Amino acid sequence: MLDTLTTESRQVADKVLAGERLSFEDGMFLEQSMDLHTLGQLANVVREQKNGNVAYYNTNIHLNPTNVCVYRCRFCAFRSDLKDEKAYTFDEAGIRERVLEGQAAGATEIHVVGGLHHRKKFDWYLDVVRTIHETCPKIHVKAWTPVEISWFSFITKKPVRWVLEQLVDAGLGSMPGGGAEIFDPEVRKQLCEHKADGDVWFDVHRTAHELGLRSNATMLYGHIEEPQHRIDHLIQLRDLQDETGGFQTFIPLAFHPDNTELHTIQKPDGLVDLKTMAISRLMLDNFEHIKAYWIMLGEQTAQLALSYGADDIDGTVVHELIYHDAGAETPEGKTVEQLHQLIHEAGRDPVERDTLYRRVTRNGNEWTVA
Ligand code: SF4
Repeated sequence: MLDTLTTESRQVADKVLAGERLSFEDGMFLEQSMDLHTLGQLANVVREQKNGNVAYYNTNIHLNPTNVCVYRCRFCAFRSDLKDEKAYTFDEAGIRERVLEGQAAGATEIHVVGGLHHRKKFDWYLDVVRTIHETCPKIHVKAWTPVEISWFSFITKKPVRWVLEQLVDAGLGSMPGGGAEIFDPEVRKQLCEHKADGDVWFDVHRTAHELGLRSNATMLYGHIEEPQHRIDHLIQLRDLQDETGGFQTFIPLAFHPDNTELHTIQKPDGLVDLKTMAISRLMLDNFEHIKAYWIMLGEQTAQLALSYGADDIDGTVVHELIYHDAGAETPEGKTVEQLHQLIHEAGRDPVERDTLYRRVTRNGNEWTVA
């Protein structure tokens, strides 16, 4: 593989193949000077060392309890003002109905994120988790990003640790990776100046990990950020992972511009998606999993991504709203059979996992974990 590489590419490739950690400068070299084919080959070596030929998926359902939000992130097509026509808020019966739908479909996980509704007290958000957990204790509740957790801390005037402890008592199982966007303060100021900054994002995950919760991490790319911001973002995640080991998977999220304030920006194409996937795999040497979120990438790019560093394609994802509000043209959900086909076509072996990456054994909609 290395025979035809330039001297500089060979030096970085040698580090990857020897299992050495890549520096910020190496990351910038990957961004600016290494061809996509070589990036993909190297990322695939690491991916197969960590996860063999397996491609993970899960059976999950989404719940976005409200789209009413006090913030106005410029990349967001999901949020709504309280009096907008599209504003909605789930009540308890609606939440129970969604959970029962997930249970009937054999879902192992419910993914919960949403807006920050200024008229709702912390108890309302707590009750979202409690209602889900009481309706079906077997379904894992993966809920609320650091943006929401820091909002709860703000409205209750209580520490983040206290907020997380209340949520765990109510049934919280783990945290998703959203709200990370790009950590660089200048970029963040232009995208979402009011919401939780990078330091807060890391503090919440650190506290969650200290409490024994696992969580994910993301990066929103393809908007106004530059390569150095992406590499810096990945290295900051790698540093916290060194400290706590609490992250499970990293998900690079492609910016979708439709219906956002940044609608004049071109959506990243498949080549950018694959390059970002491969660089993420190469920089995040202490993350076990890299996810190609098929809803966002589209099925074909997600399939290709399974050879560019990704080992997970997320799940059946019933009721996705956030990316579809921003113009995603993928279906709003897939069956397990469709996910199997997608993974087989990519030459990988599908394995159903639960939220914590335990293997799921399934008989129709009945399931157990190993
Ligand atoms: S990204 Fe989240 S916090 Fe920002 S406006 Fe949208 S819903 Fe609100």
